[in-house]
Amino acid sequence: MAETGSEEPEASYDAVVIGTGSGGKLAAIELARLGHSVLAVEAGRFGGECPYVACVPAKSMLLSARAGLTWAEAVTRRDEATAGRDDSGSLKSLTDEGVAVLRGRARLVADPGGDGRPGHRLVVDRGGHGTVELAAPVVVLGSGSSPSRPPLEGLDGVPTWTSDEALSADEQPARVVILGGGAVGCELAQAFVLLGTGVVMVEVAERLLPAETVWVGRLLAEQLRADGVDVRVGASAQRVEATDSGRALRLHLEGGEEVEADRMLVCGGRSPNTSGLGLDLVGGRLEKSGAVSVDGRCRVLRPDGEPIAGLYAVGDVTEVSSYTHSANYQARIIAADVAGRGYDADYSAIPRAVYVHPAVFCVGLTEEQAVERGIDVRTASFAVADVERATLWGHAVPPPGRREVRGRVELVADATSGVVLGASCVGPEADSWGAELALAVRARLDVHLLSEHVRAFPTWSEAIYPPACTLDEEIAGRP
Ligand SMILES: Cc1cc2nc3c(=O)[nH]c(=O)nc-3n(C[C@H](O)[C@H](O)[C@H](O)COP(=O)(O)OP(=O)(O)OC[C@H]3O[C@@H](n4cnc5c(N)ncnc54)[C@H](O)[C@@H]3O)c2cc1C
Repeated sequence: MAETGSEEPEASYDAVVIGTGSGGKLAAIELARLGHSVLAVEAGRFGGECPYVACVPAKSMLLSARAGLTWAEAVTRRDEATAGRDDSGSLKSLTDEGVAVLRGRARLVADPGGDGRPGHRLVVDRGGHGTVELAAPVVVLGSGSSPSRPPLEGLDGVPTWTSDEALSADEQPARVVILGGGAVGCELAQAFVLLGTGVVMVEVAERLLPAETVWVGRLLAEQLRADGVDVRVGASAQRVEATDSGRALRLHLEGGEEVEADRMLVCGGRSPNTSGLGLDLVGGRLEKSGAVSVDGRCRVLRPDGEPIAGLYAVGDVTEVSSYTHSANYQARIIAADVAGRGYDADYSAIPRAVYVHPAVFCVGLTEEQAVERGIDVRTASFAVADVERATLWGHAVPPPGRREVRGRVELVADATSGVVLGASCVGPEADSWGAELALAVRARLDVHLLSEHVRAFPTWSEAIYPPACTLDEEIAGRP
């Protein structure tokens, strides 16, 4: 069994997984648990982005910042949480499950037809250690995504960080400008400002988190401003130039405003890693966005919409839902299909969480999305500040200045059936207590049950009760 990723692989396996991020790693483990011989090939760090430069360090920095730690203390804790970005733990968790591992960059190649081995053909470039050829009837593409760089004039000439660098850097910048007000931009803005960096945030849309319902982004902007972030929404970056002999920058916004900073954090989304995968050689289809086209069972599709036997894709490279929990879900969908128990994934209730304080937790349809789809819906909302837990929070939770409870719960239900279609929550720890609403959406629960369900006192989740009762009364006429 390979232990370091540099041992000689076999010539063929039952399954080869390309990329061991959240999706690829779990797919490899699940397939091995089914009794298959599995090889996981990794070009970077075993474990992918999440444990080293994405989810884990972002949450670690946020928690440290909220606890009032200094930058240096936060960096120490972040490096403990990410094991110093050393991937030996992830590698071991694969080999412990019986997965063979190989360091290198894999690509699919056309089957020259006739060497007798079943399935797909791959070549792995092992850097200084040459190449190896492999064959496997099942191949899972889990190559993930990389930060995109916006086409902003002057960007290449100024000091920039993507989230990868911002979450692995040791030095604290004095002033940053964050380009992009999505989930990653908001998390970095709050972590950095609470740790003492001056933060300006520039978002071209009229609100932060533009994909969510209108009030969510507005409420978040209120909080970030209260934290000290200079939030500029509806602000279009025109060009950027270097100042101070290239050590700082000046960003020019439409309308003549200028922002000065030491570093620009580019948080403008991510692009799927498909270049060099060889997908074209095996007849796979890419979406317009560049993502691998998959069906409900995560099978890679041909241009005619038919699945390619034994070829799957998982995680960000599919762009279906770019979260670790979605990648994990897709990995289980793939394992079930390989085991002959295939079923289509249901993405209707994938949580969309942002781990700032107060946290954001959204699931299912927003009112706007429901209306776009022609669904007649009713909505009701409630201020989180009005539950008993908020009173306790105000009395007991330090640090001062963070006692005011900002938050709201909004439920969206079908106006005829009363089925819960979506929910948006902002509030302390909403990332945890919102989970009840994800289950309600997934189970297509009648809002009546949500209004009757008994929640522990005094918890934040009690904020779900009033809007559920309002909707139940409006839709079913039940007082
Ligand atoms: C700052 C930040 C914070 C985030 N926070 C959260 C969060 O709190 N919760 C959440 O659910 N999601 C979060 N996400 C999203 C989450 O990180 C991603 O959705 C998840 O990591 C995607 O996993 P993946 O399986 O697609 O692969 P990735 O983690 O992208 O890994 C892909 C791997 O494939 C390897 N690879 C690529 N090409 C090849 C090749 N040809 N051969 C071999 N190996 C290859 C790469 O080296 C890489 O290791 C966050 C993202 C960012 C940027």
